[in-house]
Amino acid sequence: MYYNLAQLLKEPTGSTRDYELDGSFVGPENGIDRARGRVRVIRTHEGFLVRTELETQVRLTCSRCLDQFELQSQLKMEEESFPTIDPATGKTTEPPEEAEGVIHLDAQHVLDMAEVVRQYVLSEAPIKPLCCEECLGLCPGCGNNLNKEKCKCNAASVDPRWG
Ligand SMILES: [Zn+2]
Ligand SMILES: [Zn+2]
Repeated sequence: MYYNLAQLLKEPTGSTRDYELDGSFVGPENGIDRARGRVRVIRTHEGFLVRTELETQVRLTCSRCLDQFELQSQLKMEEESFPTIDPATGKTTEPPEEAEGVIHLDAQHVLDMAEVVRQYVLSEAPIKPLCCEECLGLCPGCGNNLNKEKCKCNAASVDPRWG
């Protein structure tokens, strides 16, 4: 998911590159998650416009039952990107004043889409993920996952001496 934009940087405004993206990135729970889709990079006056249409598959842990589940989502974004090195002079360039939260290229003009996708997924990930709306969660008494097993609290509270 690395794209070298050094060549495109030398081309006139409006020049574009299309990339097929299919790769992995470090997800919100530090596992390896997947993204696939399309990336279009358009040369602008000052840098690039990066348009992406991706499908991401992210593993999350349900906040109720603590089971892992996979969340699929569509990710559409359009971000600006600026070179950190001026290709003509080789000097470090400051991104324009209003450039906050933009994609930064490294000194070789490489666009790291894995990091971009990661940041985006992190900002969009639910704070309390749920495996499903109706998740029954864990019983606070016996700790059983009530989606899969019955609560054992009553069974356990019967004193064996009575048996
Ligand atoms: Zn759950
Ligand atoms: Zn229970």
